[in-house]
Amino acid sequence: MVAIPKTQTAATVPKLGGGVVFKHDYPVPQPGHNEILAKILYSGVCQSDLHTQAGTAMSADGSYIRNVKLPHVGGHEGIGRIVALGPGVTEDIKIGSYVGVPFIARVCRRCNYCLAAKEQYCAKQLNHLHHRDGSFQEYIVIGADYLAVLPDDIDPVVMGPILCAGVTTYKAVKNANVKAGDSVVVVGAGGGLGHLAVQYALAQGAIVYGVDGGAEKGEFLKSYGIHGYIDFTNTPDVVAKVKELTNGGADAAIVVANNQKAYAQAAEMLTIGGTLNCVGLPPDKVYLQTTVATIALRALNITGNLVGSLKECLEAVEFVRRGVVKPKVVVRPFEDLPKIYEELVRGEVLGRIVLKIAKDE
Ligand SMILES: [Zn+2]
Ligand SMILES: [Zn+2]
Repeated sequence: MVAIPKTQTAATVPKLGGGVVFKHDYPVPQPGHNEILAKILYSGVCQSDLHTQAGTAMSADGSYIRNVKLPHVGGHEGIGRIVALGPGVTEDIKIGSYVGVPFIARVCRRCNYCLAAKEQYCAKQLNHLHHRDGSFQEYIVIGADYLAVLPDDIDPVVMGPILCAGVTTYKAVKNANVKAGDSVVVVGAGGGLGHLAVQYALAQGAIVYGVDGGAEKGEFLKSYGIHGYIDFTNTPDVVAKVKELTNGGADAAIVVANNQKAYAQAAEMLTIGGTLNCVGLPPDKVYLQTTVATIALRALNITGNLVGSLKECLEAVEFVRRGVVKPKVVVRPFEDLPKIYEELVRGEVLGRIVLKIAKDE
């Protein structure tokens, strides 16, 4: 039995937009009925963490998300180990197992979305971003009825980002109905989401092209076997280049970059009947600039998704466990979080940053 302390270190945000304050006397939560306590080993850092703590995250109706539990503790790409069970937890859940801390924390399990395995849209959901403390702390309580128990043979260092970035891009590839031989363009291919979207599309047998800026990202993506790289810093007409490479237009465009410019031309890259999948969430109100005529006359599909179901999350994990998808992670100390937010704002991050939270013992 591991001794569980009464207090822990947590990266708190007392006021949205006011920055991160590390608390070393933050209470360790106690698992209640049918809950488990996990010790967090690693956690990825997501753009949604950045925007939520800054008060610049946008909701589906176009308003800023301000209804956030305070102090806010972010983190929804956590990998932990179960260290204690509350009363009533069934025997199949074992102390010592790896467990994920994904975006969704709890769902009702009875509404139409829950019953259709689209539980991420459950109106009664609680998540690890707005309602409950996430994985930027050493210990977390999670309900045992909605638990991402992970196989024992995973690498906990690389798996965190799959719980948000990975499942989101895996689902984007699924939404686009990508089949072997289809051409897929990933816009923003070199970042935390992008390099995973590239690999999930490659895993389906697609011909994958990446759009991003700079030679370094191109070399990085070539190491994954991408079929072509379009450097927007030295390509005068990105749309024309995509059309040239794909013989008239791509079957799918997955936009993971989160700025107006990335979305402006994305639909123009598509072939007849092609699919645009919107993944990257801009911090401001950003509109697609595609004309209705283009969408109608070119029979385009426009899709989006909020992460994926727990089942899809575990499918995305399986690709990584089998070594088909290899997340590029840079492990940094927990206390670097404020610095990492600044680096994310400047777009300096290649792959995904993972914080080392607590010691595994
Ligand atoms: Zn996220
Ligand atoms: Zn529900």
